[in-house]
Amino acid sequence: MANLKQFLMIPGPTQVPENVALQGAHGMINHRSADFKKVFESVIAGVKELYLTKNDLFIFNSSGTGALEAAVSNIVGPGDKVVGVSIGNFGERFQKIAKAFGGEVIPLDFAWGTAADPKKLKEILDADTKKEIKAVLMTQNETSTGVVNDIKALAEVVRAHGALIVVDAVSGLLAEPLKVDEWGLDIVASGSQKAFMVPPGLGILSVSAKAWKVIETTKRHCYYFDLLQWKKFAPNGETPWTPALSLFFQMDEALKMLRAEGIDKILARHQLLKKAARSAARALGFGLLAEDDKCASPAVTAIVPPAEVDAEALRKLCRTKYGVTLAGGQGKLAGKIFRISHLGYIDQLDIISAFAAIEMAMSELGQKVVLGSSVKAIQEVLLKG
Ligand code: PLP
Repeated sequence: MANLKQFLMIPGPTQVPENVALQGAHGMINHRSADFKKVFESVIAGVKELYLTKNDLFIFNSSGTGALEAAVSNIVGPGDKVVGVSIGNFGERFQKIAKAFGGEVIPLDFAWGTAADPKKLKEILDADTKKEIKAVLMTQNETSTGVVNDIKALAEVVRAHGALIVVDAVSGLLAEPLKVDEWGLDIVASGSQKAFMVPPGLGILSVSAKAWKVIETTKRHCYYFDLLQWKKFAPNGETPWTPALSLFFQMDEALKMLRAEGIDKILARHQLLKKAARSAARALGFGLLAEDDKCASPAVTAIVPPAEVDAEALRKLCRTKYGVTLAGGQGKLAGKIFRISHLGYIDQLDIISAFAAIEMAMSELGQKVVLGSSVKAIQEVLLKG
């Protein structure tokens, strides 16, 4: 039989709770009115609370990449030097954006499946005695490999140098701790379609006082994302251009759920599901791209199937027969791995269902599988809590 229900197990867009989805049907209102100001202020305050920041925060009509472009285009002009720390596909994208705006990018690349080494970053920054490096771009959670960087340690190294710390927290925020103010993170980007449990379309950016000084003196090439425009409108509870009203209503609803749950519990649930997914993958004899549990992502697990199993065939069977949508490999990992998400509105039983489907699909692909072995492994993790 074909499955009636769908299990969306990709690291964004993530599943949307019904009450959040329903807010998308809210009627339109004037975006320059007291009514919108109320929603705007509630959403900005709610996101700032989860960002653990008192910095300015802006919400654009864009996906996460738009927020990254907003970050870069406001601080990087032609010939400006920046370090781009990359541990995967999204780190590479950050480097490409900086190049697109004329930046002279110093790449600091690490093997896919591993985390960035703060010592290597220190070497580059120590050598910059003239302090020409303006900013360091880094990814909190590398979604393509299922690895998290130690942002606290990387930020400490950058703070000692004085460059701006710019973090892509698009898929990591709320899955892995990120203390924006405590760690002195100058610009932090995220998006609605990940741990916020909201459909795609809102790009989020926090900006520190130190970043504003750089923005004000940079020869910038931006218009839609000109942060000085956004800063002008924010005190009136407005955005310079028409906001995605439906998504604001949805974000307001999701924030009520997230604030009620609290950051600690949100982080704990991601950690628990990460443990469950890793334990299940190991029970089936799969490899894990992020071998080290410490830097493994609480948002997504990248799984390396046995050589004789075609990852794409496995994904296809899971989707068509069992309604379980898994993510494929990206960039040079395309066709070599598959990824299972535990980000956002994903529950313990979603993980159990997904692995039950993976087991059946593996069996149908002619692999020897002890049915129930990964499910048992998950149950054991969940029972320990
Ligand atoms: N950065 C990271 C770490 C991501 O995971 C993603 C999306 O998956 C992005 C950036 C880009 O976001 P978007 O696809 O919303 O533009």
